[in-house]
Amino acid sequence: RPIDIAGLLSLLRREAMSLERRPRNVNTQIDSEEWLLGAETEIHSIVSNLLTNAVKYTPSEGEVTLRWWTDDEGGHISVRDTGVGIAAEHIPRLTERFYRVDSGRSREMGGSGLGLAIVKHALQRHEATLTIESTPGKGSTFTCHFPQHRVVSREGVEAGVARLHAVD
Ligand code: ATP
Ligand code: MG
Repeated sequence: RPIDIAGLLSLLRREAMSLERRPRNVNTQIDSEEWLLGAETEIHSIVSNLLTNAVKYTPSEGEVTLRWWTDDEGGHISVRDTGVGIAAEHIPRLTERFYRVDSGRSREMGGSGLGLAIVKHALQRHEATLTIESTPGKGSTFTCHFPQHRVVSREGVEAGVARLHAVD
């Protein structure tokens, strides 16, 4: 089913902005009008997990940005934060179940270390991959890459809806 990623990101942004403990700003940057073919509950859970982490590991004076764009390769959703960051040696292991970076901040924030394992499996079911870039003390960017055949135009979605109505 086609998912309106722009709508999903703005919904998640509003939810994050209503939290009491959150970074100064949670932004959306929408650079594509296209939609994504996938399971909406799973895509929601992927972005929600990444956003929860970004909010958890970013101080109140920091910022988080949710971005959606498409290019020749496919569709991409990134969650970027200006938070505590992650040392390079931890990055390859982050999506393992129960793996948590033993920093003061992680201990203090709590969590089970399952979020990114769930993200990884949900992405695999969408033939998608996760890339992680981070600089300790500066912030992190988690990006989900979806293949081209899952990107659909809004016109195509509307035409499909019109066909469904025609069948009714
Ligand atoms: P859970 O998601 O199960 O509540 P968690 O957030 O600790 O617990 P994951 O979401 O799997 O677990 O993340 C694993 C670890 O990766 C975290 O404990 C944290 O150390 C690190 N991490 C994840 N996202 C970020 C981020 N945006 N900035 C800094 N560290 C992060
Ligand atoms: Mg988490």
